[in-house]
Amino acid sequence: MTSSSGPAAAPAAPGTPGRSGASMNGRPLLNRRLAEFGTTIFAEMSALAVRTGAINLGQGFPDTDGPEEVREAAVRALRDGRGNQYPPGPGVPELRTAVAAHQSHHYGLAYDPDREVLVTAGATEAIAASLLALVEPGDEVIALEPYYDSYAAAIALAGGTRVPVTLRPRDGRFVLDLDELRDAVTPRTRLLLLNTPHNPTGTVLTREELAEIAKLAVEQDLLVVTDEVYEHLVFTDEVTPAHLPLASFPGMRERTVTIGSAGKTFSFTGWKVGWVTSTPELVTAVRSAKQYLTFVASGPFQYAVAEALALPDSYFTSFREDMRAKRDLLAAGLTAAGFEVYRPAGTYFITTDIRPLGDSRSGAGDGFAFCRALPERAGVVAIPNAVFYDHREAGAPFVRFAFCKRTAVLADAVDRLKAL
Ligand SMILES: *Cc1c(COP(=O)(O)O)cnc(C)c1O
Repeated sequence: MTSSSGPAAAPAAPGTPGRSGASMNGRPLLNRRLAEFGTTIFAEMSALAVRTGAINLGQGFPDTDGPEEVREAAVRALRDGRGNQYPPGPGVPELRTAVAAHQSHHYGLAYDPDREVLVTAGATEAIAASLLALVEPGDEVIALEPYYDSYAAAIALAGGTRVPVTLRPRDGRFVLDLDELRDAVTPRTRLLLLNTPHNPTGTVLTREELAEIAKLAVEQDLLVVTDEVYEHLVFTDEVTPAHLPLASFPGMRERTVTIGSAGKTFSFTGWKVGWVTSTPELVTAVRSAKQYLTFVASGPFQYAVAEALALPDSYFTSFREDMRAKRDLLAAGLTAAGFEVYRPAGTYFITTDIRPLGDSRSGAGDGFAFCRALPERAGVVAIPNAVFYDHREAGAPFVRFAFCKRTAVLADAVDRLKAL
């Protein structure tokens, strides 16, 4: 249920705009759907990194650009005048075809590029448009907690009620309790909003868990929106493809909206190219909302991403192996520094528990206090996971570090964390 303290905002910190906000005509300027969302923690922590010269492992963006040939493809598109004017509403045909080919090549899922693929302004717009299109005011939306920060705001904008189901640490992994998920479903539940691989915990839902979720969705006739932007960052040692799209489970293709993003897969987060694959009916519904948000975006970049999606398997393999090495470097450093480390099976984030550090300066398990002090103590910035929770206390001792940074930067951070 919606709590009075918003998920995406930190408790008011000195010098940051609070959510009390300005008013006019005797009313708050910010409408009540958004009133609980203050400035995101990322703004506060990134400003802190700049002020203190700390290494920013807070926000999850790579510090090197993606493949040179993809960057060149964008330059070519710009020069050749492709995409400099409004591209078609559903996205340029080249990209829709490439998205469909990607789903088929990597997962054996067939989508019609003309009717079952929609290009969006990043995954963020895909999430917002899906919820605005599919949720009526009063509908309940179940989301895994901790959740990516835009979920709560998008549910609120749609007038929905978020119902968090908490992932809990067990045996070194954050685990979804399937009974809790089942119990969270009510007659008012409209859709499940899932995310695997999961940010911030690094959990990858297993085949068995996904099968149970699929069974529940079919039984209860629920829509599912699944955020799979980290599909190419799965580190489990099973045979490839390691990522299992929820849409590939029995009964799911016709009720699932699947979301992907070039930002995470090709390390071009500034390009904001995302996509939706689903049935013609669901894609049409999502497009109805999307056309009044941005209408279209990222024209020339769409052509470049079409080329990126067709890169040989070796690109995806070396991208994953590079990130796996970075994960191992940072995980070892965090363990050596005294954190309890939840070794991620996917994404480029590591969630840690600060309590084993054991000192009062770690804020006695208060992730906010810990993260505000960390730049001064060790010259590193991290994010308190509590911002991703409605149940703040459940997330209090957890802190997230991003490892999508150059190896030298991670090595420096590991060195600095020895100060703890
Ligand atoms: C980064 C991220 C997004 C947003 O992707 P964009 O394509 O940059 O909009 C969505 N979901 C999750 C889980 C993310 O980590």
